[in-house]
Amino acid sequence: MPELQKFQHYIGGAFEDAAEYFASLDPATGEPWALMPAASAQDVDRAVRAAATALRHPAWAGLTATARGRLLYRLGDLLAAAAPSLAALETRDTGKIIRETGGQIAYIAEYYRYYGGLADKLMGLYVPVDKPDMEVTLRREPVGVVAAMVPWNSQLFLAAVKLGPALAAGCTVVLKAAEDGAAPLLEFARIVHEAGFPPGVVNIITGTGVECGQALTSHPLVARIAFTGGPETARQILRNSAANLAATTLELGGKSPVLAFADADIENVCNAVIAGIFAASGQSCVAGSRLLVQRPLLTPLLERLKARAEMIRIGDPASPDTQMGPLATARQRDRALDLIASSLAEGAELITGGTVPAEHPEGFYLRPTILLCAKPDTPCLREEFFAPVLSVMAFDTEEDALVLANDSKFGLASGVFTRDLARAHRLSRAIHAGVVWVNTYRVISPLVPFGGFKESGLGREGGIESILDYTRTKSIWINTSDTPLPDPFVMR
Ligand code: NAD
Repeated sequence: MPELQKFQHYIGGAFEDAAEYFASLDPATGEPWALMPAASAQDVDRAVRAAATALRHPAWAGLTATARGRLLYRLGDLLAAAAPSLAALETRDTGKIIRETGGQIAYIAEYYRYYGGLADKLMGLYVPVDKPDMEVTLRREPVGVVAAMVPWNSQLFLAAVKLGPALAAGCTVVLKAAEDGAAPLLEFARIVHEAGFPPGVVNIITGTGVECGQALTSHPLVARIAFTGGPETARQILRNSAANLAATTLELGGKSPVLAFADADIENVCNAVIAGIFAASGQSCVAGSRLLVQRPLLTPLLERLKARAEMIRIGDPASPDTQMGPLATARQRDRALDLIASSLAEGAELITGGTVPAEHPEGFYLRPTILLCAKPDTPCLREEFFAPVLSVMAFDTEEDALVLANDSKFGLASGVFTRDLARAHRLSRAIHAGVVWVNTYRVISPLVPFGGFKESGLGREGGIESILDYTRTKSIWINTSDTPLPDPFVMR
Protein backbone atom coordinates (compact mmCIF):
# COMPACT_ATOMS: atom_id res chain seq x y z
CA MET A 1 0.00 0.00 0.00
CA PRO A 2 1.41 3.50 -0.85
CA GLU A 3 2.36 5.62 2.14
CA LEU A 4 -0.58 7.69 3.31
CA GLN A 5 -0.37 11.50 3.32
CA LYS A 6 -0.09 12.76 6.89
CA PHE A 7 -1.80 15.98 8.08
CA GLN A 8 -0.83 18.14 11.06
CA HIS A 9 -2.45 20.27 13.71
CA TYR A 10 -1.89 24.02 13.81
CA ILE A 11 -1.45 25.21 17.41
CA GLY A 12 0.10 28.48 18.61
CA GLY A 13 1.39 29.29 15.11
CA ALA A 14 3.23 25.95 14.69
CA PHE A 15 2.42 22.84 12.66
CA GLU A 16 2.51 19.81 14.93
CA ASP A 17 2.34 16.06 14.70
CA ALA A 18 -0.04 14.25 17.04
CA ALA A 19 0.55 11.27 19.31
CA GLU A 20 -2.24 9.39 17.50
CA TYR A 21 -3.65 9.35 13.98
CA PHE A 22 -6.72 7.95 12.30
CA ALA A 23 -7.21 7.03 8.65
CA SER A 24 -9.42 9.04 6.32
CA LEU A 25 -11.19 7.02 3.62
CA ASP A 26 -11.57 8.15 0.01
CA PRO A 27 -15.38 8.11 -0.41
CA ALA A 28 -15.05 7.23 -4.11
CA THR A 29 -13.15 4.01 -3.39
CA GLY A 30 -13.67 3.30 0.30
CA GLU A 31 -9.86 3.01 0.65
CA PRO A 32 -7.73 4.89 3.22
CA TRP A 33 -5.82 7.73 1.56
CA ALA A 34 -4.57 9.97 4.41
CA LEU A 35 -3.82 10.08 8.12
CA MET A 36 -5.46 12.71 10.29
CA PRO A 37 -4.06 13.79 13.67
CA ALA A 38 -6.34 12.99 16.62
CA ALA A 39 -6.23 15.80 19.19
CA SER A 40 -6.16 14.60 22.79
CA ALA A 41 -7.70 16.60 25.63
CA GLN A 42 -4.15 17.89 26.36
CA ASP A 43 -3.79 19.11 22.75
CA VAL A 44 -7.13 20.88 23.06
CA ASP A 45 -5.99 22.51 26.29
CA ARG A 46 -2.77 23.75 24.66
CA ALA A 47 -4.71 25.14 21.68
CA VAL A 48 -7.17 27.00 23.93
CA ARG A 49 -4.33 28.38 26.07
CA ALA A 50 -2.51 29.53 22.92
CA ALA A 51 -5.70 31.34 21.85
CA ALA A 52 -6.14 32.88 25.32
CA THR A 53 -2.52 34.16 25.31
CA ALA A 54 -2.88 35.55 21.77
CA LEU A 55 -6.08 37.35 22.75
CA ARG A 56 -4.16 39.64 25.17
CA HIS A 57 -0.86 39.77 23.27
CA PRO A 58 -0.09 43.19 21.73
CA ALA A 59 0.65 41.50 18.38
CA TRP A 60 -3.13 40.94 18.11
CA ALA A 61 -4.80 43.02 20.85
CA GLY A 62 -2.71 46.03 19.78
CA LEU A 63 -3.79 45.93 16.13
CA THR A 64 -6.28 48.52 14.96
CA ALA A 65 -9.56 47.17 13.65
CA THR A 66 -8.47 48.39 10.21
CA ALA A 67 -5.30 46.27 10.43
CA ARG A 68 -7.37 43.23 11.46
CA GLY A 69 -9.57 43.88 8.45
CA ARG A 70 -6.53 43.96 6.16
CA LEU A 71 -5.40 40.58 7.48
CA LEU A 72 -8.84 39.15 6.69
CA TYR A 73 -8.66 40.65 3.21
CA ARG A 74 -5.29 39.01 2.69
CA LEU A 75 -6.69 35.71 3.92
CA GLY A 76 -9.53 36.01 1.39
CA ASP A 77 -7.09 36.71 -1.46
CA LEU A 78 -4.79 33.82 -0.53
CA LEU A 79 -7.78 31.50 -0.20
CA ALA A 80 -9.08 32.48 -3.64
CA ALA A 81 -5.61 31.82 -5.11
CA ALA A 82 -5.44 28.40 -3.40
CA ALA A 83 -9.01 27.45 -4.42
CA PRO A 84 -8.02 24.89 -7.09
CA SER A 85 -5.67 22.91 -4.82
CA LEU A 86 -7.98 23.10 -1.81
CA ALA A 87 -10.91 22.05 -4.00
CA ALA A 88 -9.01 18.97 -5.16
CA LEU A 89 -8.29 18.11 -1.53
CA GLU A 90 -11.90 18.57 -0.43
CA THR A 91 -13.08 16.45 -3.35
CA ARG A 92 -10.64 13.70 -2.41
CA ASP A 93 -11.55 13.70 1.26
CA THR A 94 -15.34 14.21 1.12
CA GLY A 95 -16.37 12.96 -2.35
CA LYS A 96 -17.97 16.32 -3.16
CA ILE A 97 -17.62 16.87 -6.90
CA ILE A 98 -14.85 19.11 -8.21
CA ARG A 99 -17.38 21.26 -10.10
CA GLU A 100 -18.87 22.29 -6.75
CA THR A 101 -15.79 22.52 -4.53
CA GLY A 102 -13.85 24.78 -6.95
CA GLY A 103 -16.60 27.39 -7.30
CA GLN A 104 -17.59 27.24 -3.66
CA ILE A 105 -14.08 27.81 -2.29
CA ALA A 106 -13.47 30.79 -4.58
CA TYR A 107 -16.72 32.32 -3.24
CA ILE A 108 -15.77 31.62 0.39
CA ALA A 109 -13.04 34.23 -0.06
CA GLU A 110 -15.85 36.81 -0.30
CA TYR A 111 -16.86 36.01 3.29
CA TYR A 112 -13.40 36.91 4.58
CA ARG A 113 -13.40 40.08 2.48
CA TYR A 114 -16.87 41.02 3.72
CA TYR A 115 -15.90 40.64 7.38
CA GLY A 116 -12.53 42.28 6.69
CA GLY A 117 -14.45 45.33 5.45
CA LEU A 118 -16.74 45.23 8.48
CA ALA A 119 -13.94 45.11 11.07
CA ASP A 120 -13.59 48.89 11.46
CA LYS A 121 -17.29 49.66 11.00
CA LEU A 122 -18.16 48.13 14.35
CA MET A 123 -18.91 51.12 16.54
CA GLY A 124 -19.81 51.78 20.13
CA LEU A 125 -22.61 54.04 21.39
CA TYR A 126 -23.01 57.23 23.36
CA VAL A 127 -25.87 57.07 25.88
CA PRO A 128 -27.66 60.34 26.81
CA VAL A 129 -28.00 59.07 30.36
CA ASP A 130 -30.57 60.39 32.86
CA LYS A 131 -27.94 61.59 35.36
CA PRO A 132 -26.31 65.05 35.40
CA ASP A 133 -22.57 65.38 34.66
CA MET A 134 -22.25 61.80 33.42
CA GLU A 135 -20.88 60.73 30.07
CA VAL A 136 -21.79 57.13 29.30
CA THR A 137 -20.29 55.30 26.36
CA LEU A 138 -20.67 51.68 25.32
CA ARG A 139 -17.62 49.90 23.97
CA ARG A 140 -17.88 46.71 21.94
CA GLU A 141 -15.02 44.43 22.96
CA PRO A 142 -14.05 40.99 21.62
CA VAL A 143 -15.87 38.31 23.61
CA GLY A 144 -12.73 36.17 24.02
CA VAL A 145 -11.65 32.72 22.88
CA VAL A 146 -14.08 31.14 20.42
CA ALA A 147 -14.52 27.39 19.99
CA ALA A 148 -15.67 26.79 16.42
CA MET A 149 -16.91 23.33 15.41
CA VAL A 150 -18.04 22.20 11.99
CA PRO A 151 -19.37 19.03 10.33
CA TRP A 152 -17.74 17.45 7.29
CA ASN A 153 -20.01 18.53 4.49
CA SER A 154 -18.72 22.09 3.82
CA GLN A 155 -15.93 22.60 6.27
CA LEU A 156 -14.23 25.58 4.63
CA PHE A 157 -17.49 27.44 4.17
CA LEU A 158 -18.85 26.69 7.64
CA ALA A 159 -15.49 27.74 9.12
CA ALA A 160 -15.56 31.06 7.20
CA VAL A 161 -18.92 32.14 8.65
CA LYS A 162 -17.41 31.70 12.13
CA LEU A 163 -13.79 32.80 11.63
CA GLY A 164 -14.68 35.88 9.56
CA PRO A 165 -16.82 37.69 12.17
CA ALA A 166 -14.84 36.34 15.14
CA LEU A 167 -11.51 37.66 13.83
CA ALA A 168 -13.05 40.92 12.61
CA ALA A 169 -14.31 41.48 16.17
CA GLY A 170 -10.82 40.80 17.61
CA CYS A 171 -11.45 37.33 19.08
CA THR A 172 -9.10 34.39 18.82
CA VAL A 173 -10.27 30.95 17.70
CA VAL A 174 -9.77 27.23 18.16
CA LEU A 175 -11.39 25.57 15.18
CA LYS A 176 -12.15 21.86 15.35
CA ALA A 177 -12.47 20.22 11.95
CA ALA A 178 -14.86 17.27 11.78
CA GLU A 179 -13.16 13.89 12.00
CA ASP A 180 -14.53 13.03 8.52
CA GLY A 181 -13.23 15.15 5.67
CA ALA A 182 -10.81 17.20 7.81
CA ALA A 183 -8.10 17.57 5.14
CA PRO A 184 -9.17 20.90 3.57
CA LEU A 185 -9.38 22.69 6.93
CA LEU A 186 -6.05 21.32 8.16
CA GLU A 187 -4.51 22.51 4.88
CA PHE A 188 -6.29 25.88 5.21
CA ALA A 189 -4.14 26.42 8.33
CA ARG A 190 -1.18 26.95 5.99
CA ILE A 191 -3.05 29.83 4.33
CA VAL A 192 -3.89 31.37 7.71
CA HIS A 193 -0.19 31.13 8.57
CA GLU A 194 0.87 32.72 5.29
CA ALA A 195 -1.66 35.54 5.73
CA GLY A 196 0.34 36.61 8.78
CA PHE A 197 -2.05 36.21 11.72
CA PRO A 198 0.00 36.33 14.95
CA PRO A 199 0.65 32.90 16.57
CA GLY A 200 -2.32 31.51 18.50
CA VAL A 201 -4.95 33.79 16.91
CA VAL A 202 -6.23 30.86 14.84
CA ASN A 203 -5.63 27.25 15.91
CA ILE A 204 -6.93 24.36 13.82
CA ILE A 205 -7.23 20.81 15.16
CA THR A 206 -9.30 17.71 14.59
CA GLY A 207 -10.27 14.66 16.59
CA THR A 208 -13.28 12.76 17.81
CA GLY A 209 -16.38 14.46 19.09
CA VAL A 210 -16.21 12.78 22.46
CA GLU A 211 -12.55 13.46 23.29
CA CYS A 212 -11.64 16.57 21.31
CA GLY A 213 -15.08 18.23 20.86
CA GLN A 214 -16.11 17.74 24.46
CA ALA A 215 -12.80 19.03 25.87
CA LEU A 216 -13.04 22.10 23.64
CA THR A 217 -16.65 23.08 24.29
CA SER A 218 -16.36 22.65 28.06
CA HIS A 219 -12.95 24.35 28.40
CA PRO A 220 -13.03 27.07 31.09
CA LEU A 221 -11.18 29.60 28.89
CA VAL A 222 -13.71 29.37 26.04
CA ALA A 223 -16.10 32.34 25.99
CA ARG A 224 -18.18 31.53 22.92
CA ILE A 225 -19.10 28.40 20.95
CA ALA A 226 -20.06 28.51 17.29
CA PHE A 227 -21.33 25.08 16.26
CA THR A 228 -22.65 23.58 13.04
CA GLY A 229 -23.81 19.98 13.09
CA GLY A 230 -26.67 17.76 14.14
CA PRO A 231 -29.32 18.54 16.82
CA GLU A 232 -28.25 15.69 19.14
CA THR A 233 -24.63 16.89 19.20
CA ALA A 234 -25.94 20.41 19.77
CA ARG A 235 -27.75 19.27 22.92
CA GLN A 236 -24.55 17.65 24.13
CA ILE A 237 -22.64 20.87 23.44
CA LEU A 238 -25.15 22.90 25.46
CA ARG A 239 -24.58 20.46 28.32
CA ASN A 240 -20.80 20.86 27.87
CA SER A 241 -21.15 24.64 27.99
CA ALA A 242 -22.66 24.40 31.47
CA ALA A 243 -18.99 24.14 32.52
CA ASN A 244 -17.89 27.48 31.04
CA LEU A 245 -21.24 29.26 30.49
CA ALA A 246 -20.12 30.09 26.95
CA ALA A 247 -22.75 31.73 24.75
CA THR A 248 -23.57 29.42 21.86
CA THR A 249 -24.64 29.72 18.23
CA LEU A 250 -26.13 26.55 16.76
CA GLU A 251 -26.59 25.89 13.04
CA LEU A 252 -28.31 22.52 12.82
CA GLY A 253 -30.19 20.25 10.47
CA GLY A 254 -33.17 20.69 8.22
CA LYS A 255 -36.03 19.04 6.36
CA SER A 256 -36.71 22.01 4.16
CA PRO A 257 -40.02 22.19 2.29
CA VAL A 258 -40.29 23.33 -1.32
CA LEU A 259 -43.84 24.39 -2.22
CA ALA A 260 -44.61 24.12 -5.94
CA PHE A 261 -47.92 25.69 -7.00
CA ALA A 262 -49.73 24.83 -10.21
CA ASP A 263 -49.11 28.33 -11.62
CA ALA A 264 -45.29 28.03 -11.27
CA ASP A 265 -42.88 27.74 -14.21
CA ILE A 266 -42.37 23.98 -14.32
CA GLU A 267 -38.86 24.16 -15.77
CA ASN A 268 -37.76 26.59 -13.07
CA VAL A 269 -39.24 24.33 -10.36
CA CYS A 270 -37.61 21.23 -11.83
CA ASN A 271 -34.14 22.81 -12.04
CA ALA A 272 -34.39 24.29 -8.54
CA VAL A 273 -35.57 21.01 -7.01
CA ILE A 274 -32.84 18.98 -8.76
CA ALA A 275 -30.16 21.44 -7.60
CA GLY A 276 -31.71 21.71 -4.14
CA ILE A 277 -31.62 17.99 -3.39
CA PHE A 278 -29.02 16.38 -5.62
CA ALA A 279 -26.22 19.00 -5.45
CA ALA A 280 -23.52 17.86 -3.00
CA SER A 281 -25.26 14.44 -3.15
CA GLY A 282 -27.94 15.90 -0.87
CA GLN A 283 -25.42 16.53 1.92
CA SER A 284 -26.49 20.08 2.48
CA CYS A 285 -28.27 21.42 5.55
CA VAL A 286 -30.61 23.41 3.27
CA ALA A 287 -31.35 20.49 0.94
CA GLY A 288 -34.89 20.95 -0.38
CA SER A 289 -35.79 17.45 0.73
CA ARG A 290 -39.60 17.80 1.10
CA LEU A 291 -41.30 18.68 -2.18
CA LEU A 292 -44.95 19.67 -1.75
CA VAL A 293 -46.73 19.89 -5.09
CA GLN A 294 -50.16 21.26 -5.93
CA ARG A 295 -52.11 18.33 -7.36
CA PRO A 296 -52.49 19.47 -11.03
CA LEU A 297 -48.68 19.83 -11.26
CA LEU A 298 -47.86 16.50 -9.60
CA THR A 299 -47.75 14.12 -12.57
CA PRO A 300 -45.98 16.39 -15.08
CA LEU A 301 -43.44 17.53 -12.47
CA LEU A 302 -42.72 14.01 -11.22
CA GLU A 303 -42.19 12.83 -14.82
CA ARG A 304 -39.65 15.61 -15.42
CA LEU A 305 -37.90 15.07 -12.10
CA LYS A 306 -37.62 11.32 -12.66
CA ALA A 307 -36.22 11.80 -16.19
CA ARG A 308 -33.77 14.46 -14.96
CA ALA A 309 -32.65 12.42 -11.92
CA GLU A 310 -31.98 9.39 -14.11
CA MET A 311 -29.79 11.50 -16.42
CA ILE A 312 -27.46 12.62 -13.63
CA ARG A 313 -23.92 11.42 -14.33
CA ILE A 314 -22.68 9.60 -11.23
CA GLY A 315 -18.97 8.93 -10.98
CA ASP A 316 -15.50 9.98 -9.92
CA PRO A 317 -15.93 13.25 -7.99
CA ALA A 318 -12.56 14.47 -9.31
CA SER A 319 -13.78 14.35 -12.93
CA PRO A 320 -15.25 17.64 -14.24
CA ASP A 321 -17.90 15.61 -16.11
CA THR A 322 -19.34 14.08 -12.95
CA GLN A 323 -22.62 15.56 -11.73
CA MET A 324 -23.05 13.55 -8.54
CA GLY A 325 -20.39 11.93 -6.40
CA PRO A 326 -20.53 9.51 -3.49
CA LEU A 327 -21.70 10.30 0.02
CA ALA A 328 -18.90 11.23 2.41
CA THR A 329 -19.12 8.12 4.58
CA ALA A 330 -20.47 4.57 4.48
CA ARG A 331 -22.41 5.45 7.64
CA GLN A 332 -24.36 8.16 5.77
CA ARG A 333 -25.16 5.89 2.84
CA ASP A 334 -26.29 3.02 5.08
CA ARG A 335 -28.50 5.33 7.13
CA ALA A 336 -30.13 6.59 3.92
CA LEU A 337 -30.75 3.03 2.71
CA ASP A 338 -32.37 2.18 6.07
CA LEU A 339 -34.62 5.25 5.95
CA ILE A 340 -35.63 4.47 2.35
CA ALA A 341 -36.53 0.90 3.42
CA SER A 342 -38.60 2.05 6.41
CA SER A 343 -40.40 4.66 4.25
CA LEU A 344 -41.26 2.04 1.61
CA ALA A 345 -42.53 -0.23 4.39
CA GLU A 346 -44.78 2.66 5.52
CA GLY A 347 -46.34 2.93 2.06
CA ALA A 348 -44.07 5.35 0.16
CA GLU A 349 -43.82 4.70 -3.59
CA LEU A 350 -40.35 4.51 -5.17
CA ILE A 351 -40.31 6.74 -8.27
CA THR A 352 -36.60 6.25 -8.99
CA GLY A 353 -33.31 5.29 -7.31
CA GLY A 354 -33.26 3.79 -3.85
CA THR A 355 -30.20 1.60 -4.41
CA VAL A 356 -26.43 1.64 -4.73
CA PRO A 357 -25.57 2.10 -8.44
CA ALA A 358 -24.51 -1.26 -9.89
CA GLU A 359 -21.56 0.37 -11.70
CA HIS A 360 -20.20 1.78 -8.41
CA PRO A 361 -20.22 -1.01 -5.83
CA GLU A 362 -17.06 0.42 -4.22
CA GLY A 363 -17.15 3.75 -2.48
CA PHE A 364 -20.20 5.24 -0.83
CA TYR A 365 -22.52 5.90 -3.77
CA LEU A 366 -26.32 6.09 -3.77
CA ARG A 367 -28.54 6.69 -6.79
CA PRO A 368 -30.62 9.91 -6.86
CA THR A 369 -33.84 8.81 -5.21
CA ILE A 370 -37.41 10.10 -5.36
CA LEU A 371 -40.16 8.80 -3.06
CA LEU A 372 -43.84 9.72 -3.37
CA CYS A 373 -45.71 9.74 -0.06
CA ALA A 374 -49.40 9.71 0.73
CA LYS A 375 -49.06 10.35 4.50
CA PRO A 376 -47.18 13.24 6.17
CA ASP A 377 -45.87 10.93 8.89
CA THR A 378 -43.90 8.74 6.45
CA PRO A 379 -40.34 8.58 7.90
CA CYS A 380 -38.75 10.09 4.77
CA LEU A 381 -40.87 13.25 5.22
CA ARG A 382 -39.88 13.66 8.87
CA GLU A 383 -36.22 12.64 9.23
CA GLU A 384 -33.21 14.40 7.77
CA PHE A 385 -31.37 12.06 5.34
CA PHE A 386 -28.33 14.15 4.41
CA ALA A 387 -28.37 12.14 1.18
CA PRO A 388 -29.78 12.51 -2.37
CA VAL A 389 -33.33 11.52 -1.44
CA LEU A 390 -36.34 13.65 -2.39
CA SER A 391 -39.66 13.00 -0.67
CA VAL A 392 -42.75 14.27 -2.48
CA MET A 393 -46.32 14.85 -1.33
CA ALA A 394 -49.33 16.40 -3.08
CA PHE A 395 -51.55 19.18 -1.69
CA ASP A 396 -54.73 20.89 -2.85
CA THR A 397 -54.93 24.37 -1.33
CA GLU A 398 -52.50 27.03 -0.10
CA GLU A 399 -53.74 26.40 3.46
CA ASP A 400 -52.96 22.66 3.15
CA ALA A 401 -49.49 23.46 1.76
CA LEU A 402 -48.72 25.76 4.69
CA VAL A 403 -49.82 23.18 7.27
CA LEU A 404 -47.63 20.52 5.62
CA ALA A 405 -44.67 22.91 5.28
CA ASN A 406 -44.74 23.83 8.97
CA ASP A 407 -45.36 20.26 10.15
CA SER A 408 -41.70 19.56 10.98
CA LYS A 409 -39.41 19.74 13.99
CA PHE A 410 -36.98 21.61 11.72
CA GLY A 411 -37.20 25.16 10.30
CA LEU A 412 -34.04 25.96 8.39
CA ALA A 413 -34.91 26.84 4.78
CA SER A 414 -37.88 26.73 2.42
CA GLY A 415 -38.80 27.44 -1.18
CA VAL A 416 -42.02 28.82 -2.69
CA PHE A 417 -42.64 28.52 -6.43
CA THR A 418 -45.56 30.55 -7.74
CA ARG A 419 -46.29 33.43 -10.11
CA ASP A 420 -48.81 34.85 -7.63
CA LEU A 421 -47.03 37.73 -5.90
CA ALA A 422 -49.56 38.10 -3.08
CA ARG A 423 -49.29 34.37 -2.28
CA ALA A 424 -45.48 34.60 -2.27
CA HIS A 425 -45.69 37.39 0.33
CA ARG A 426 -48.31 35.59 2.44
CA LEU A 427 -46.28 32.39 2.55
CA SER A 428 -42.97 34.17 3.18
CA ARG A 429 -44.51 35.58 6.35
CA ALA A 430 -46.22 32.35 7.45
CA ILE A 431 -43.55 29.70 6.87
CA HIS A 432 -41.61 28.77 10.01
CA ALA A 433 -38.08 28.82 8.63
CA GLY A 434 -35.03 31.05 8.81
CA VAL A 435 -34.81 31.39 5.02
CA VAL A 436 -37.56 31.62 2.39
CA TRP A 437 -36.49 31.48 -1.26
CA VAL A 438 -39.17 32.52 -3.76
CA ASN A 439 -38.82 31.13 -7.30
CA THR A 440 -35.20 30.27 -6.53
CA TYR A 441 -33.32 27.97 -4.18
CA ARG A 442 -29.99 27.53 -2.36
CA VAL A 443 -28.61 31.03 -2.95
CA ILE A 444 -26.41 32.52 -0.24
CA SER A 445 -24.36 35.65 0.31
CA PRO A 446 -22.03 36.93 3.05
CA LEU A 447 -24.36 39.95 3.34
CA VAL A 448 -27.41 37.90 4.31
CA PRO A 449 -27.98 36.30 7.74
CA PHE A 450 -28.55 32.57 7.76
CA GLY A 451 -29.93 30.26 10.44
CA GLY A 452 -32.86 28.22 11.59
CA PHE A 453 -36.06 28.13 13.64
CA LYS A 454 -37.02 25.28 15.99
CA GLU A 455 -34.56 22.33 16.01
CA SER A 456 -32.66 23.90 13.12
CA GLY A 457 -30.74 26.17 15.43
CA LEU A 458 -30.12 29.20 17.53
CA GLY A 459 -28.63 32.49 16.31
CA ARG A 460 -27.59 33.61 12.84
CA GLU A 461 -24.41 33.46 10.79
CA GLY A 462 -23.60 35.85 7.94
CA GLY A 463 -24.57 39.49 7.58
CA ILE A 464 -23.79 42.40 9.88
CA GLU A 465 -25.57 41.08 12.96
CA SER A 466 -23.38 38.00 13.37
CA ILE A 467 -20.29 40.08 14.20
CA LEU A 468 -22.11 41.33 17.34
CA ASP A 469 -22.16 37.73 18.66
CA TYR A 470 -18.39 37.92 18.94
CA THR A 471 -18.43 41.10 21.03
CA ARG A 472 -19.61 42.05 24.48
CA THR A 473 -20.64 45.46 25.65
CA LYS A 474 -18.72 47.40 28.26
CA SER A 475 -20.55 50.41 29.79
CA ILE A 476 -18.18 53.24 30.76
CA TRP A 477 -19.45 55.98 33.14
CA ILE A 478 -17.38 59.15 33.34
CA ASN A 479 -18.15 61.84 35.89
CA THR A 480 -17.43 65.20 34.19
CA SER A 481 -18.04 67.33 37.29
CA ASP A 482 -15.16 68.94 39.22
CA THR A 483 -17.36 69.02 42.34
CA PRO A 484 -16.49 66.18 44.73
CA LEU A 485 -19.13 63.48 45.14
CA PRO A 486 -21.38 64.13 48.16
CA ASP A 487 -20.52 62.32 51.38
CA PRO A 488 -23.02 59.42 51.37
CA PHE A 489 -23.42 59.54 55.16
CA VAL A 490 -24.29 63.21 55.46
CA MET A 491 -28.07 63.81 55.39
CA ARG A 492 -29.21 66.71 53.15
P1 NAD B 1 -22.34 16.03 14.06
O1 NAD B 1 -23.22 16.80 14.94
O2 NAD B 1 -22.24 14.57 14.25
O3 NAD B 1 -20.81 16.57 14.15
C1 NAD B 1 -20.47 17.94 14.05
C2 NAD B 1 -19.22 18.21 14.88
O4 NAD B 1 -19.49 17.99 16.27
C3 NAD B 1 -18.03 17.31 14.54
O5 NAD B 1 -16.87 18.12 14.53
C4 NAD B 1 -17.99 16.32 15.70
O6 NAD B 1 -16.71 15.80 15.97
C5 NAD B 1 -18.47 17.18 16.86
N1 NAD B 1 -19.00 16.42 18.01
C6 NAD B 1 -19.62 15.22 18.00
N2 NAD B 1 -19.95 14.85 19.26
C7 NAD B 1 -19.54 15.84 20.10
C8 NAD B 1 -19.61 16.06 21.52
N3 NAD B 1 -20.17 15.17 22.34
N4 NAD B 1 -19.11 17.21 22.03
C9 NAD B 1 -18.57 18.12 21.20
N5 NAD B 1 -18.46 17.97 19.85
C10 NAD B 1 -18.93 16.85 19.29
O7 NAD B 1 -22.80 16.42 12.60
P2 NAD B 1 -22.61 15.58 11.27
O8 NAD B 1 -23.57 14.45 11.30
O9 NAD B 1 -21.18 15.35 11.01
O10 NAD B 1 -23.12 16.69 10.22
C11 NAD B 1 -24.36 16.71 9.67
C12 NAD B 1 -25.29 17.65 10.41
O11 NAD B 1 -24.86 19.01 10.28
C13 NAD B 1 -26.66 17.62 9.76
O12 NAD B 1 -27.69 17.60 10.72
C14 NAD B 1 -26.70 18.92 8.96
O13 NAD B 1 -27.99 19.38 8.65
C15 NAD B 1 -25.95 19.83 9.85
N6 NAD B 1 -25.48 21.02 9.10
C16 NAD B 1 -26.05 22.23 9.37
C17 NAD B 1 -25.66 23.37 8.65
C18 NAD B 1 -26.26 24.73 8.95
O14 NAD B 1 -25.64 25.73 8.59
N7 NAD B 1 -27.42 24.84 9.57
C19 NAD B 1 -24.69 23.26 7.67
C20 NAD B 1 -24.15 22.01 7.42
C21 NAD B 1 -24.55 20.89 8.15
